[in-house]
Amino acid sequence: MSERVVRLIEEDEPDGLRLAPGHVLLRTLEVGVCGTDREIAAFAYGSAPAGTDRLVLGHEALAEVVRTGAGVARVRPGDLVVPTVRRPCNRIECLACRVGHQDFCTTGQFVERGISGAGGFMTELFVEEERYLVPVPPAVGELGVLVEPLSVAAKAFAQLDAILARLPWDKDRAQALVLGAGPIGVLTAMGLVVKGYRTVVFSREPDDDDRAQIVRSIGADYVSSESTDIHGLASRMGRFDVIVEAVGVPEFAFRTLPALAVNGTFILTGVPAPRPEFAFDGAGLMHNFVMQNQVMFGTVNADHASYEAAVRMLEQCLVRFPDAVRRVIARRVALDEAPALLRAAGGGVKTVIQIGEASTKARDGGLPAPGRGAARSASAGARER
Ligand SMILES: [Zn+2]
Ligand SMILES: [Zn+2]
Repeated sequence: MSERVVRLIEEDEPDGLRLAPGHVLLRTLEVGVCGTDREIAAFAYGSAPAGTDRLVLGHEALAEVVRTGAGVARVRPGDLVVPTVRRPCNRIECLACRVGHQDFCTTGQFVERGISGAGGFMTELFVEEERYLVPVPPAVGELGVLVEPLSVAAKAFAQLDAILARLPWDKDRAQALVLGAGPIGVLTAMGLVVKGYRTVVFSREPDDDDRAQIVRSIGADYVSSESTDIHGLASRMGRFDVIVEAVGVPEFAFRTLPALAVNGTFILTGVPAPRPEFAFDGAGLMHNFVMQNQVMFGTVNADHASYEAAVRMLEQCLVRFPDAVRRVIARRVALDEAPALLRAAGGGVKTVIQIGEASTKARDGGLPAPGRGAARSASAGARER
């Protein structure tokens, strides 16, 4: 019987003086916490790297380049970067992974740093290949920690654009509905506003909730599902050309299908916990999908290009509504508080763990030689395998 515990551990520092070609030593600045981390900390999800009994958590990171290995050309010491999460499977027949689209992996044998099969970023120092790092401009700064969750929206928009290519006469970005006011929901709403959609966020929080205020401050509408049902919403505002589901609650999601417009697109991004079956109007669903050319698709983040698109989207959001973007990060806590935070229920929009300080030394080029000391990491282990 294995021990199941979430705690801080001491590990050997990665050897920054003997980096393999193409590899980069990074100092973690901040790591965002989401529902996935809490599920892993509850041992409901996730897996340790093969042959080990613990998993370092954290997949939403902002880091600073400390040192680069031979052949690294795109990043330099002092640069801010966001590491992508999913690494390709090594199966020759997986064409998606072979062309760098591991978000479309067909074998399921990918690994995800901080989630399944590979250590994450809730650690003081880590090493990553240059090709998995996405540069973040200094103007974005610490808000770069939002790039990973925003990449969910960025990939969804890329898929949506491909689908909308079937309606070349319909250039107007009309009306969009976002289900859920969690971090993905709020960030997706920001992206939709930037793209020109009239945007409504529909969620269970009351009308005076902090998240509702953030949503209104970006020029979107917030409607509480506690006070208005989907039929009331659709009869007041008309149907929605795009609905983005960002809660992972199928009963809530599929009840909104009658509010999807003719030729509309319904996007699923939430992953539901196992739950009992429930009944809904399958014939009505099928009728509308056929007779109204509707599309539904699911999307899992994200390819490199979507991370880059997320950085650009974040820059645009910072120009349009800087205060609202900052308010998405409700709280910053120290690494020591990570285990307690991971065991607690989420509150506010986004909690971020502060791990390191951006180094002015690194920016000046006068780098301290990395020692061979111990780096601290938040890890879930020892896991049963
Ligand atoms: Zn996450
Ligand atoms: Zn693959």
